[in-house]
Amino acid sequence: MAAVKNLVVGAGLSGSVVARKIVEELDESVVVIDSRNHIGGNSYDYRDDVTGIVVHKYGPHIFHTNNKEVWDFISRFTKWRPYQHKVHGFVDGQFVPIPFNLNSLRMVFPRVLADKIENKLLDKIGFNKKVSILELRKVNDKDLEFLAQYIYEKIFLEYTIKQLGLSPNEIDSSVFGRVPIYISRDDRYFQDKYQGIPLNTYTEMFRKMLEHPDIKVELKTPFDKAMKYERLFWTGSVDEFFDYTFGVLPYRSVVFDFLTFNQEKFQAVASVNNYPTNYDFTRMTEYKHFLADWSDKTIVSCEYPIDFSIGKNDRIYPIANNDNIALCEKYIDLAKRLPNVYFFGRLGDYKYYDMDEAAERAFEVFKKIKEGR
Ligand code: UDP
Repeated sequence: MAAVKNLVVGAGLSGSVVARKIVEELDESVVVIDSRNHIGGNSYDYRDDVTGIVVHKYGPHIFHTNNKEVWDFISRFTKWRPYQHKVHGFVDGQFVPIPFNLNSLRMVFPRVLADKIENKLLDKIGFNKKVSILELRKVNDKDLEFLAQYIYEKIFLEYTIKQLGLSPNEIDSSVFGRVPIYISRDDRYFQDKYQGIPLNTYTEMFRKMLEHPDIKVELKTPFDKAMKYERLFWTGSVDEFFDYTFGVLPYRSVVFDFLTFNQEKFQAVASVNNYPTNYDFTRMTEYKHFLADWSDKTIVSCEYPIDFSIGKNDRIYPIANNDNIALCEKYIDLAKRLPNVYFFGRLGDYKYYDMDEAAERAFEVFKKIKEGR
């Protein structure tokens, strides 16, 4: 194989964004390889043959951002169905809004207690403010400590143990910052300015992003050390590139059990988290909510997290605890010594990026190259 100008490993969001930027702004050619048989990475979705419902193969993906540059860029490759994600948690026999907010509070507590706690939240934290569960646990007030402990036990503890295989104390606090307690009556999961689901699937959006005379996509093509390149963009796991020299970076994977039910609707909102401990799955997602696909049947996935194991399943979540972050830093030190090789993305950086954050990071990598030329 002759040396390619730019070799991108991974046709997910990070790789596809960088590929597009290179061909458009540097006017150079790009080869994108992916070991899977599809583009889109973990955002890949497809239309189910029987029901016509679009299903996200690697679990629910909702595009949300406050970054206009990201939104405008992605919007060149898709139209959007305006969609505001809502999530319920099954708490003490009721489906309550997640993130836990003032509406959830009124649903789970008797009025007198809810009034008292609400007033304290408004007073000590403030209306329309977000507070992480770890911060709330530190507020020096008996009632708010009670609330924090309640939310911790009912919403975070079991879910996190199931999802990441570790108790919340062992995890980097940024993980919980993703789902703060919201002193508001806004029941949406995200408050970002721009939110939506690609009207014609994520996969079609990626196809358009990668559709360019100077981009060549090769699927079912794992990286091979014999490949020659002038620049390499690595969006796979950083440890893999270095043959696991310092050990394997742990991830959680998920087994998605897709169920088709003979009923029009299964649940009120797209995702329901936190079924009680007698189930091994973390959440159930009903896909027809995303694009309002009509069918007299419905498709739901149950997510069963398990440890990632090389060659057996897919990497879904990095596990950000101290040991793993330290291990990752050893790889990053090695990575820094390689000229013309760039590591980024959820796996390349070993960071729990959302899609918009992955795009921002890809922009950043691209900018460095553009400026350094
Ligand atoms: N989390 C939780 N209970 C919930 C929702 C989230 O404990 O009902 C915690 C859990 O530790 C999880 C993290 O918050 O790992 C981030 O959740 P998010 O919804 O962002 O997960 P994703 O949608 O990325 O799978």
